[in-house]
Amino acid sequence: MPAIELLAASPATLLGTCLLLGLVVGSFLNVVIYRLPIMLERQWREQCAEFSGSDPAAQTMPAVPSERFDLVTPRSSCPRCNARITALQNIPLVSWVLLGGRCAGCGKEIGVRYPLIEGLTGLLTAAVAWRFGFGWPLVAAMALTRSTLPMLSAAPDASVTFTLDTRANDPRDPQRLPSEG
Ligand SMILES: [Zn+2]
Repeated sequence: MPAIELLAASPATLLGTCLLLGLVVGSFLNVVIYRLPIMLERQWREQCAEFSGSDPAAQTMPAVPSERFDLVTPRSSCPRCNARITALQNIPLVSWVLLGGRCAGCGKEIGVRYPLIEGLTGLLTAAVAWRFGFGWPLVAAMALTRSTLPMLSAAPDASVTFTLDTRANDPRDPQRLPSEG
């Protein structure tokens, strides 16, 4: 029986497949959540440097590192000791549990957010599969789930940025710098 027919005919297979798929997607979402803000900051800093031109006095920010940084490159590593994360250390949920929530290189804690995002994406994907069954509504619900999760998990960071931004631009703010116009 082809895989598609099996998924359509067996709810248990559909649920299990969606759970595994969700765990893998959750692992990728962790990469997006960690790297996208850094990618955006680099881009903004590059634009600022371009805008300020060659005037050294206007360049108040440190230079943007020249090495490539996107969702694929460089390979995942521990942000503290820089140890490469191997494929075996990168299995959604399982690796975090086996490593005891610590980096294999330096022994420092790996945030609980990583297995949480993976587990939550897996469970939500299985839940929409259970609710909608096999078909296009399931595909739409999965897409919606995946676009919502990174926004929710990035919300605390974003709210800090938003608060700082609005303060800096509020003309009534007494702490606003006169040079900001
Ligand atoms: Zn480490």
